[in-house]
Amino acid sequence: MSAPFKLRPYQQDAVDATLQHFRKTDDAAVIVLPTGAGKSLVIAELANLAKRKILVLAHVKELVEQNHAKYESYGLSGGIFSAGLKRKENDQQVTFASIQSASANLDRFSTEYSLLIIDECHRLNDDENSQYGKIIGQLRSRNPRLKVLGLTATPYRLGMGWIYQYHYRGFARSSEAKPFKYCIYELPLSFMIRKGYLTPPNCVDATITQYDFSALTTNRFGNYAETDVNQLLGKHPRVTETIIEQVHELAETRQGVMIFAATVKHANEICGYLPAAQTALITGATDNKARDQLIQRFKQKKLKFLVNVSVLTTGFDAPHVDFIAVLRPTQSVSLYQQIVGRGLRLAEGKTDCLVIDYAGNYFNLHHPEVGEKKPNPDTDPVQVFCPSCGFANIFWGKTDAEGNVIEHYGRRCQGLLEFDPSQTIQQEPQQCDYRFRFKECPHCNAENDIAARNCHRCKMAIIDPDDQLKNALKLKDAMVIRCSGMVLSTEQARLKVTYHGEEGEELNEYFDFTKPGQKAIFNTQFGKRIANAQTPKTLQSVADVLAIEPQLTAPDFVIARKQKHYWRVQERIFDYEGRHRKANQL
Ligand SMILES: [Zn+2]
Ligand SMILES: [Zn+2]
Repeated sequence: MSAPFKLRPYQQDAVDATLQHFRKTDDAAVIVLPTGAGKSLVIAELANLAKRKILVLAHVKELVEQNHAKYESYGLSGGIFSAGLKRKENDQQVTFASIQSASANLDRFSTEYSLLIIDECHRLNDDENSQYGKIIGQLRSRNPRLKVLGLTATPYRLGMGWIYQYHYRGFARSSEAKPFKYCIYELPLSFMIRKGYLTPPNCVDATITQYDFSALTTNRFGNYAETDVNQLLGKHPRVTETIIEQVHELAETRQGVMIFAATVKHANEICGYLPAAQTALITGATDNKARDQLIQRFKQKKLKFLVNVSVLTTGFDAPHVDFIAVLRPTQSVSLYQQIVGRGLRLAEGKTDCLVIDYAGNYFNLHHPEVGEKKPNPDTDPVQVFCPSCGFANIFWGKTDAEGNVIEHYGRRCQGLLEFDPSQTIQQEPQQCDYRFRFKECPHCNAENDIAARNCHRCKMAIIDPDDQLKNALKLKDAMVIRCSGMVLSTEQARLKVTYHGEEGEELNEYFDFTKPGQKAIFNTQFGKRIANAQTPKTLQSVADVLAIEPQLTAPDFVIARKQKHYWRVQERIFDYEGRHRKANQL
């Protein structure tokens, strides 16, 4: 059967990448396409090409329906297995199922499937007992060579991290196994906009007023506690009203407005300031029928304002939306892109989508996902080249006016060595082991991640810096300083390093560069860390060291032990992350 649609070139590329990948291996793979890229067409084409049984899973019935409709538009017939859609068919070659219904009826999936496609696959985790885990386990038990393909716009989740381990462009997202082993195809949002597949966003600064959520802390999943948010919002009662007045005013020339609220209480307040006849509210508690009706009326433009609390970020499709107001905080670039993505679909007469961030999220829409929580508000993604393999890493960091990286938070190079995605994958890809921040193993000197408990090379325990500090603080003859800076000088041809403690304490140590041992210690401690380890050097003389003094990194803590007449520096703790406050830190 020939396709009724001509696939866009990138959709065809995604299909080709999938076929090529599964010809080489059964490892689970993921395709990353921005919202609005037409994932359902890629799925339909794969289903069309498949010769054996395949199952397509989605988490909401709207997506099950959409994917099924695209497939049937090929003139083919596929089954739907979804209680919400009141259909439980799975005797056809292709079945479109909701994850809830499929996992609740495992015995209905006891024939052999060759391919499982999971839409919005970032919801998947490693848990075998999750709904996804159960259905994958069931299908694998019938076919150990089952191929699993995921599709998503956001391959990253706060708290869980990346959903895949290796990227086809030759880098690792994690040194641990993930639900999907490879990302085999990815397109950025900017490509889609540039090529005219999506409407350009018109991101405007909220000039009147905005929320300041920066004082709130998140849990380990990157979420804010609802009570904290409500409390903060309650302290500034006029802010929401002023914001909504502006939204209302700007909406005058707009077709459809989506407002993303922080909490249910907040959403209710927002609705109170908007014309009731034109406004709908959807939360997690809205029942399905009411939700469907509201969305229908919004799509028919009978309602202008759609206020929601974290429910319409995926699987919702109203192309006419041309104004996105973000009134909720988020820690993730991906989530932010997904929110804005709701307004970027093409529609007749639509030339742009107004985007206003009232929550001070300060995300650049085109920034790549870094995969770590933004360490502080004035950091941006920066490119850091690996001095060992040359890979261009993306980390959080800061740049000067010329764009040079002055500080970054990267730990380990993500480059894959000698990686060629077109070759058969026989061996586990090898991640470059260059570390920008590290602690040395006291037993074998290998460099380890700053959070490592055991040395990756000799497996011996590495003392936790917090324990080191705790132990030293217990000793009468030890001194611990919170180092706020260091000064270099020369004394009798030796290098003198003076560490300054926050409370005016001072510790000195000397390096004699004519002695190979002392020179080596200086270079492993300081030479390697020059410019955040972006340009490590082996320094040969005291003069060499003094010439680059501003580029040297000082330790966060210095521990010394009392000798007869002086304090001898015993330990320098760099790249500290732990319970204690560092100098110059609040
Ligand atoms: Zn590298
Ligand atoms: Zn070791």
